[in-house]
Amino acid sequence: MDFQLLAQKALRDESLSRDEARSILTASPDEFEPLLDAALHVREFHFGRRVKLCLLLNAQSGICPEDCSYCSQSKISNAPVEKYRLLAPEKIVARAGEAVEAGATRFCMAIAARGATQRDIEQIGHAVEQIKSDPKTAHLEICTSLGLLNEQKCRDLKAAGVDYVNHNLNSGPNFYPKICSTHTFSDRLDTLRNVQSAGLSTCAGGIVGLGETLDDLLDMAFALRELGVTSIPINVLLRIKGVSLENNAPVTGQHALQAMCLMRLTNPRAEVRAAAGREKLGDLQPRVLWPANSLFVDGYLTTPGESAAVVKQWVEAAGFYIEQPVAA
Ligand code: SF4
Repeated sequence: MDFQLLAQKALRDESLSRDEARSILTASPDEFEPLLDAALHVREFHFGRRVKLCLLLNAQSGICPEDCSYCSQSKISNAPVEKYRLLAPEKIVARAGEAVEAGATRFCMAIAARGATQRDIEQIGHAVEQIKSDPKTAHLEICTSLGLLNEQKCRDLKAAGVDYVNHNLNSGPNFYPKICSTHTFSDRLDTLRNVQSAGLSTCAGGIVGLGETLDDLLDMAFALRELGVTSIPINVLLRIKGVSLENNAPVTGQHALQAMCLMRLTNPRAEVRAAAGREKLGDLQPRVLWPANSLFVDGYLTTPGESAAVVKQWVEAAGFYIEQPVAA
């Protein structure tokens, strides 16, 4: 496959055919560098060599009634994670200050829940209003990940100043029933449509290494394109002790990168975010910046990650630079 031809199609905003998209996931070791170069071509066109840093807060931890089999916070997980209810607004605001200190320009908060209650929405809304009215933190893009949401809750978040709502598809629709029984793929699509109807930007991605087929990854990539998702986090399964999928086969670095290239070439204008598990790519980790333009720093929901200082070093060594606040 000539991957530069796929890059040209992506730059014209044309959809790849399914066979073209599949060729990204089946690229041979000899085709790996040309594939990364094609992804970089599209990434540079839309995002230059900028890297957006994101900092995450687990605002309610370990008490989810859902049964997602990959998740350390689900009701079927035995992983020893912290358990606490929704943090008070001042704690959320304090973490936003840490995001600024780390050089992040997006602050993401998530709760372990089937879906935020109206009270949760109000409490988070108070925190977001404070973040957006403080000159030190006002420039932060705010993303909330609050489970299933109806349109009114999305409108309330928008009114409080939230910019993005995250709700991952995680995989394709055919595989979804194998990883969760308490809600459906179409429940997730409904939430994403409610987010869009409320005028918020969508953040939705998935996890590589759940046991999915290449077709499931392709289904997810095209579903994200059809939705017009603007931010796509790609996680590599963390095989956390006590979580149902802890014995899954590890994902190779090449496959993880191919999945990120798939997202870049099928969703060329979207931010692609190398999320949890990228640290497992070892020497290949800097290559995530060929397809991805965004990284998390200072850890994930229940697992540690690299510090902002470490990330900045390898980002710059790879020839990229950290995005600065627009109104700084
Ligand atoms: S809904 Fe979210 S927090 Fe709850 S089990 Fe699923 S992934 Fe984990």
